[in-house]
Amino acid sequence: MPIKYTTGDKAVDEKLFARYGTLVENIRAYYPVFDEERLAAAFDFAAGAHNTTLRKDGSPYITHPLEVAIIMADMALDLDSIIASLLHDVIEDTGFTYKDISSKFGETVAMLVDGVTKLTRMPYVSKEDEQMENLRKMFMAMAKDIRVLIIKICDRLHNMRTIEYHTEKKRREKSLETMQIYAPLAHRLGMARLKVELEDLAMRCLDPVAYQEITEELNVRIGDKQDFLQTVSAQIEARIKEAGINAHIESRIKQIYSIYKKMYSQHKAIFEIYDLYAVRVIVDETVDCFTVLGLIHDLYHPMPGRFKDYISTPKPNMYQSLHTTVIGREGIPFESQIRTWDMHHVAEYGIAAHWKYKQGVKEISMDERLKWVRLLLEAQQDTDAEEFIKNLRVEMFVDEVFVFTPRGDVINLPAGSNPIDFAYAIHSAVGNRMTGAKVNGRIVPLDYNLKNGDIVEVMSQASHGPTRDWLKMVRTSEARNKIKQWFKRERREENVQQGKIDFEAELKRSGIPSVIFNQDDVLQQLLRKLSFATIDDLYGAIGYGGITALRAVNRIRDELIRMNRLQSEKNTVEKVMHNIKKHQTNASGVVIEGLDNCLIKFARCCAPVPGDEIIGFVTKGFGVSIHRQDCVNVAEGHEKDSGRWVGSEWASDEKATFASGLRISCKDREGLTIDVATALAGLKVSMQSYSARTLGDGYCVIMVVVMVHSSAELNEVINKLRRIEDVLEVVRHGN
Ligand code: MN
Repeated sequence: MPIKYTTGDKAVDEKLFARYGTLVENIRAYYPVFDEERLAAAFDFAAGAHNTTLRKDGSPYITHPLEVAIIMADMALDLDSIIASLLHDVIEDTGFTYKDISSKFGETVAMLVDGVTKLTRMPYVSKEDEQMENLRKMFMAMAKDIRVLIIKICDRLHNMRTIEYHTEKKRREKSLETMQIYAPLAHRLGMARLKVELEDLAMRCLDPVAYQEITEELNVRIGDKQDFLQTVSAQIEARIKEAGINAHIESRIKQIYSIYKKMYSQHKAIFEIYDLYAVRVIVDETVDCFTVLGLIHDLYHPMPGRFKDYISTPKPNMYQSLHTTVIGREGIPFESQIRTWDMHHVAEYGIAAHWKYKQGVKEISMDERLKWVRLLLEAQQDTDAEEFIKNLRVEMFVDEVFVFTPRGDVINLPAGSNPIDFAYAIHSAVGNRMTGAKVNGRIVPLDYNLKNGDIVEVMSQASHGPTRDWLKMVRTSEARNKIKQWFKRERREENVQQGKIDFEAELKRSGIPSVIFNQDDVLQQLLRKLSFATIDDLYGAIGYGGITALRAVNRIRDELIRMNRLQSEKNTVEKVMHNIKKHQTNASGVVIEGLDNCLIKFARCCAPVPGDEIIGFVTKGFGVSIHRQDCVNVAEGHEKDSGRWVGSEWASDEKATFASGLRISCKDREGLTIDVATALAGLKVSMQSYSARTLGDGYCVIMVVVMVHSSAELNEVINKLRRIEDVLEVVRHGN
């Protein structure tokens, strides 16, 4: 079935028809009978669609898809893939749509073309290694049908073959992309022949000087040993024939890029590379491989440690062969690869070879294809690919989604994520200011389910903040935590109010009389038990979700029960204790259990003040050091030196003041220092020291040391400071 398309230029048409003829011949080699009418229709349609477009070398655009189809046919791919290759740029570059293609050539072809188009539209900027890995994974994940990737790799191969028509800048860009994405992909799919060619083409652009040097060096060396490979091949062939084995022998010089890598990464001179020359023997049966190996080892000296059996242990990408390096008669080492034809097809075309063996089978289900990919990936075990495989197997098809920032960075999120997750994955500030989102240029609702390849743009406003609904919408814990943090910091007042309402409602449900909280000492003890300094802190925590109201009330109930039980015992003990204490009060206002008039100092790490629960530590030579019971050093020290800790209490009626350090985190603004000083003056609390330090992102930390009489007074100070505008957090800090 001849094609109808004509460019109007006879010479051009002739060239085109000749190449089309090659395509048909190549397909016939593996499909003796196929739907030639359908192929011709696809060619005519694609050629017509690209009609007026010329390639940079002046040829009609259809030359490119045609050459891509020829590469595909070299790998014996199915007719749908070949037709899709002919049409692969139609959606991208012409007015035709998915529907046009599916109605003319069927759903499979349209799906393949659409997949290639999506990969083509992916923005690409040279990236860090990790980003690169994401990008490669994204390619895998997006190409649900692996044939999409194969077409895309062939497309790139032809573009690289004709890259000289591009500008220097474009050449470099395309070559980098080829080196970073397409060659590794081809490698992972086992498509060695394409990988090698892609790398050499890219390297020629990226390091033309080295490429030239190696090529020249190789020419000189081959010139030297003009007939070396021929002689060796002939010797091997004769010996194999003698043994009655049917074999095909080919010889080659090693790939330029792999020589380059060895020279530069292993600092080797070209003569130190053993496998510069290679002879390949292809046989019919696996058993013949081992016979041939024996014959070659008999003919030449094998180099120790250079034999590898990839037949028993295939490479991760399913590659199988026997490798051995031997020393030829002239003292030149060469590598010998021995494999069967089946192994050869897999070695050259990897995953694409799969379709060769499926010929005649009309429809391969999606599952069947994915099963193949999975098997291939599961077979991969070497360290290089391990991480890739692990991620791929776990996340490739179900658990992960890859999306882009408008700048082209890949963001990797769990499947089911929405634009809120995306925004917080970039930065908490981006999430906190988010007002809406655009995906691929269109405004979407915030709960939009992100899909692979989406380009996500966050719309924002400086004064905006998250809403509580977001907590229910987000998929990632990262986003959830950042939203909670925001409520904790930015909405303290609101949180305290909300928390108070929740807490009181829960309290009412539980039947605990709220009058309990009017007794300050009971309240303090309960709060301590819950690890909050003030009741507002507790409300705040309930408000931002740090603790649930139910949990807080339950713990309060437990504590009240315990307190009641202890009360009666305590009353008797206290009376006795009081008498002892009287005699042991010392000048610092602290009573040490069993110690009289000892030297007292207050630990700087926690700076206790009256009202704090305290404990003493008998130091070596400096008397007793007083810590707060909740000081970290107490918790740690208790395990080591339990014998040196002595019970301590505050003596009553002390008028002394105590230094206590406070750490105030706040948003930086003018006048903050004055507000802090005014607040302290209002409470008649004196300041012993003051220092402030900006954190550079609009936040600052103020350290003050205040003089107070008791922990109650200190709490009052803390509460007052917290109420100052832009103060985010006030914590005790030693002194
Ligand atoms: Mn293309």
